[in-house]
Order: sequence, then C-alpha cells, then structure tokens
Amino acid sequence: MSSKIFRSIWAAALTVLLLTLVLVFSMLYKYYDRTQQAQLTNEVHLASRGVTLNGEKYLKNLDTDNFRVTWIAADGKVKYDNKANPAKMSNHKNRKEVKEAMSKGFGASSRYSDTLSIKQLYAAERLPDGTVLRLSVNQAPIWMMLLGFAQPIAVVIILAILLSFWLASRLSKRIVAPINKLDLDNPMEYIDNEDFKELAPLLQRMNIQNGQIQKDKSELEKTSLIRQEFTANASHELKTPLHAISGYAELLENGIVRPEDVKPFAGKIRAESLRMTRLVDDIIDLSKLDEGGESMKWEEVDLYRIADNAMDSLQSAAQEADVQMSLEGESAWLHGIAQVLYGIVYNLCDNAIKYNHPGGYVHVNVRPSDKHVILTVTDNGIGIPLEDQERIFERFYRVDKSRSKEVGGTGLGLSIVKHAMMIHKATVKLDSTPGQGSAFTITFPEDPEAEK
Ligand code: ADP
Repeated sequence: MSSKIFRSIWAAALTVLLLTLVLVFSMLYKYYDRTQQAQLTNEVHLASRGVTLNGEKYLKNLDTDNFRVTWIAADGKVKYDNKANPAKMSNHKNRKEVKEAMSKGFGASSRYSDTLSIKQLYAAERLPDGTVLRLSVNQAPIWMMLLGFAQPIAVVIILAILLSFWLASRLSKRIVAPINKLDLDNPMEYIDNEDFKELAPLLQRMNIQNGQIQKDKSELEKTSLIRQEFTANASHELKTPLHAISGYAELLENGIVRPEDVKPFAGKIRAESLRMTRLVDDIIDLSKLDEGGESMKWEEVDLYRIADNAMDSLQSAAQEADVQMSLEGESAWLHGIAQVLYGIVYNLCDNAIKYNHPGGYVHVNVRPSDKHVILTVTDNGIGIPLEDQERIFERFYRVDKSRSKEVGGTGLGLSIVKHAMMIHKATVKLDSTPGQGSAFTITFPEDPEAEK
C-alpha cells in the first residue's frame, strides 16, 4: 500500500510542479513579448526625432544590426531600408502598421514571417513631413527561447523530480506509519488519538467486526463443545446396551444358561436392542433437526389432527402404565413440518405417561389463539424439581437416571422437542410441581416465516 500511496503522491506533486513550470514560462514569455513591443515603440519614437532633425544621414549612421529600419514616403514608396534595396521593395502603403501610423500618427503590428516561424514585431511613427519611419525586430519563438533556457530548465525539472520524490516518500511514510502501529485487536484505544482522526470510521467498523468475530467464535466453540459432548455421551449410551447384549449372548453361547432361562435371556437381549434402536432413532431425529428442517416438507397442517395421531400410537403404552389420555380443543392450522410437529406431541405425551403414577392422566389441549396455536400437555405425574426445570431440555439430561432407564427413556426426547420448537419458532412454558404433575405449554406462530 505504501508504494501505491507513494506513487500517487509523487505523481501529484510532480504534476503540480511541472504545471507551475509551464505556467511560469508562459507568463514570462508574455512579459517578454510586452516589453519588447514597448521597447520597440520607444525606439521608433527616438529614431523619428533623429530622422526629423537629420534626415537619411541619421539612419545611415545608425548601428542597427538588431533592427530593420524602413523609411516610407507619404505615398507608400520605400525611401530607405537598412536590410534591402528600396528600389526593389513594393509599396508599403497598405502594411497594417504603416496605414495606422499615417492615419493616427502611430501604428504597431506583429506578423509571422513565412520561413522559420519567426515572429516579427513592427512599430511605425509618422514624421511631421508625412513620411513614416518603421522599426521591426525578430522575436524568437517560444521553443527557441526554451532551447536557450535548456540548462536551467533541466536543472529545475530534475530538482522538481527530486523534491517531489522526497516529499512523496516522507508523506507516504507518515500516512502509513499510524496504520502499521495499530493494534488490530483494540482499535478503540486510538479513537481519541490525533494521528488516527481520519481513521475513526475504520476503527469503529473494526471494533464492531471484532465484536462480531468474537461472538461467532464463542458460538462456534460452544457448538463444537456441545457436539463433542454429544458424541461422547451417545457412544457411552450405546455401549451400555451393547455390553449387556454381548454379555447375555456369551452366556448363551457357552451353554451355561439353564434351558428354562434361555427365554428370559433372549427377552433381555431383545429389550436391550430395542433400547438401542430407540436411541439410534432419536439420534437420527436430532441430526435431521440439526439441519434446521430446510430439506423437509413445509405445509399447512392441523396440529389437532397431528396430536390425535400421536396420541393414538401411544394408546397401548398408556394402557400398560394405567394412564388415562384425553384430547381437547379444536382444529388449529399452522405452517410447519407435520413429521416434526408429531415428534413434539409424541415426546411430550410419552414423557407424561412415563413419569406418571398408575391411575394418572395426560390431558392434551390444542387451540388456535390470535395468529398462534397453543399446545398444552398436562399430567398429574411425578413432576420436575425447580432446579432441574431449566436443564431437562439438554441432551441426555435426566432428573432421575434410573427411572428414565427403567421406563425406556433415552434422555433425548426433550432435546428433540426443543429443536423441533426452534425450527417452528415456538416458545415453551413449563409449570411443574414435584409430586403433583407438570404442564408444558407450547406456543407456535401460525406462520414461522413471518416471525423475527
Ligand atoms: P427421557 O428419554 O429420559 O425421558 P427427555 O429428554 O424426554 O428424556 O426428558 C428429560 C428428563 O426430564 C426425563 O428424564 C425426566 O426426568 C424429566 N421429565 C420429562 N418430562 C417429564 C414429565 N412430564 N414429568 C416428570 N418428569 C419429566
């Protein structure tokens, strides 16, 4: 960057210096032009006096190498010329400066001679006898003048280049120095520093971005930690039934088991594999939900009907646990993923049955309410202690691990509910008292996409 800044400054400085040079020279040339004309006027005036007093004799005695002197009679015929034979010269009556002098007493003009592009300046004055005396002088063109000044001009140009080089390198270093000094992690430290005044908007943006990066980083770290924890937990949870299965299988294989025990052993193997299947199913569900539900089918669905279906498939489990299930409410439509919403009702009811007492109940209520759909699952089961209520939605978190195992829990049901809710932008409220029961109230927006 420094070299780019340097080059721009150098170019700018050099351009300014050269433009100044051109301007100064053109002004000088104009000045030179004006003084030459004035000088010529003075000289023709003096010479006129001389001719009036002494006639042609005066002209002949003049040392006039630099000038051309022409004396013209009142009728325009050339009487005398110091550079040519007057007899061979044409009538000068119509020359601009002569004409002007004859009528007004004085005339001046300038012309370019055909050859060389040399400019000729003329000044003419009328004498008392009506004749006209004319002086003319050659003016070198600007390029010839420049050529004459070639050496000083070259010196000035070289000086300009060197000076602008020095200026540019100093300036670019001074501009870049504070930027290089910046501690990118703490841009706000410099905000009040005079050296960084122009960089204030950049510093502010950097500060905001640093904050964002920090936030993203800690979020990433958090998710990666959760993933690691999950993988470790999941492997551990899978290993337990596997160990049990291989243990039972080994006993059967060795023939240690009495014939009458073979059946219960096979039953245990089946139960453990069922546990594994449930776990694997839950893990698959969770990882699908982790994708955010983008690849799944979004449609208008009636949560009341979904709840009815979910409860239907839990009917036999409820009967087994001697728990009464009931559904109340009315059709409630929302934009969502049927399969995922089914998972919410299923897991909540499954828990309400599992963590209940024989003779207990599970009430489900679904109803629309002001652009929202409200699902409530109430039970009069064992309830959840207040200190655990925050954590039950975490993966593999159980209030009572042995009870969860006993009833076939995986510890993933509520985290599936939490993810499913997130996808639908729903919120949950939990009311629970140990020994009395729990009520989960979930509020879905009718259209999650309209939600911020
Ligand atoms: P699990 O597969 O163990 O049921 P969940 O994630 O579904 O896992 O639930 C986490 C824990 O929350 C359960 O182990 C249980 O202790 C508690 N819990 C969930 N629902 C209820 C409920 N309706 N009544 C009492 N405890 C509950």
